[in-house]
Amino acid sequence: MGAEEPESVVRRLREAHRRGLARPLEWRLAQLDGLAQLLLEQRPALSAALRQDLGKSADESLVTEIGLLQREVAHVSGRLARWLRPQRAAVPLPVQPGRASTVLEPLGVALIIAPWNYPLLLALSPLIGALAAGDAAVVKPSELAPATAGALSELLPRYVDARAVAVVEGDAATTTELLEQRFDVIFYTGGGRVGRIVMAAAARHLTPVVLELGGKCPVYVDPSADLEVAADRIAWGKFMNAGQTCVAPDHVLADDATAARLVPLLERAARRMYGGDPLRNDAYCRIVSEQHFDRLVPLLEDGEVAFGGRADRPSLRIEPTVLTGVADGSAVMQQEVFGPILPVVRVTDEEDAIERVAGGDKPLSLTVFSKPSSRAAWTTRTSSGSIAFGVPVLHLAVPDLPFGGVGESGTGSYHGRRSLVAFSHEKAVLVKPSRPDTVQLLSPPFGRVKRRVLARFTG
Ligand code: NAD
Repeated sequence: MGAEEPESVVRRLREAHRRGLARPLEWRLAQLDGLAQLLLEQRPALSAALRQDLGKSADESLVTEIGLLQREVAHVSGRLARWLRPQRAAVPLPVQPGRASTVLEPLGVALIIAPWNYPLLLALSPLIGALAAGDAAVVKPSELAPATAGALSELLPRYVDARAVAVVEGDAATTTELLEQRFDVIFYTGGGRVGRIVMAAAARHLTPVVLELGGKCPVYVDPSADLEVAADRIAWGKFMNAGQTCVAPDHVLADDATAARLVPLLERAARRMYGGDPLRNDAYCRIVSEQHFDRLVPLLEDGEVAFGGRADRPSLRIEPTVLTGVADGSAVMQQEVFGPILPVVRVTDEEDAIERVAGGDKPLSLTVFSKPSSRAAWTTRTSSGSIAFGVPVLHLAVPDLPFGGVGESGTGSYHGRRSLVAFSHEKAVLVKPSRPDTVQLLSPPFGRVKRRVLARFTG
């Protein structure tokens, strides 16, 4: 995109959109096909960028970013024509005869602000929704993942229509400039602090927002759970991307006896994935920046290190670590960890765990390893973006499940058909024939006959 000013980018996209460029279904499908081609042909370049930004292995890039995107594009492309068909709505008696329906219309020009932790996935996954909806879009990648941002701004215009899709690189100052422009929808993924800035900026233009935020995602492990499986899955969800995952287990809640049995199993699971020296293992990601590394290292002091605990600043790696004896007031429990440090926090029993989760900020995701009979209590007594029984993280790979938070963890959702809806306006359409002219019945003067008919209408 070079030096083009945010204002000029938005003007250019808006004009193209007003001319109807993005409206035809064929255009939308061609863009989605372009994304599919990009992911296929440029996999080595994209994978190299992710390795540069986060030390991500090609396998992890495929599983957690490129492969997810490929499946999402295929899912949306294959169903888009059907999803765009008008949906009939029932017409009540006083409005009959008539035909009512809803149509999804493009909102216009979208702004997509992406974070650094899954810098490819979280830039392109919303873009799939914007293009499916027939919107033009400005994509603002995170400056903390510069290799991926560079790859996106170089490659994306080669695969999608650059008259309707622009990548704007830059830091907070650029984002601030972008936010001064009028957009028709803003899709932001990142922390709550900037989320508030985005929402305030959007309010100036009455622009709708989707805020995909984070926070602390708890995991409860009950004594009745299969602890080996629980430990394997918690370690998998926590240590992928070195813990820099918005839905990663932030901390584990367990009673003392369960924690004592669980911790060695967590260690075994971490070793199985990343060996005895994770700091030198190429399959293990690094922390994104020195600033985040320096934020995380002091958190290692907030409990007893059950295993792990070593950190290497030159390579920005921190070992998969479990902390026990963690106090509620400690720094590691006062912020989203967003790194490979897993505090195990004591609860007395399952009731205590439910009360604790219900009393805190609403998490993006809650994971429970317990008996089937307690699912109802967890589901109805706590509120969270998602609740998963028996596995963390994986719900985001189910395209028909909404992905999004509630309260502090965000507003709005996407994935699958909901991505299309997030970038569309659902317009109400009513068609009423001239004859018979039943509207006469609703207008004065109201004589005896009309009153009798109206009395039937209103029951
Ligand atoms: P980040 O620092 O990369 O910021 C996100 C975006 O905001 C970037 O594009 C950045 O340029 C912009 N930005 C930064 N400061 C700004 C300012 N002052 N004004 C305007 N724009 C600004 O990402 P982050 O916030 O560190 O991301 C981590 C957070 O994101 C975590 O809390 C994580 O849980 C959350 N997250 C949520 C999801 C989700 O899907 N819900 C996914 C990934 C990450």
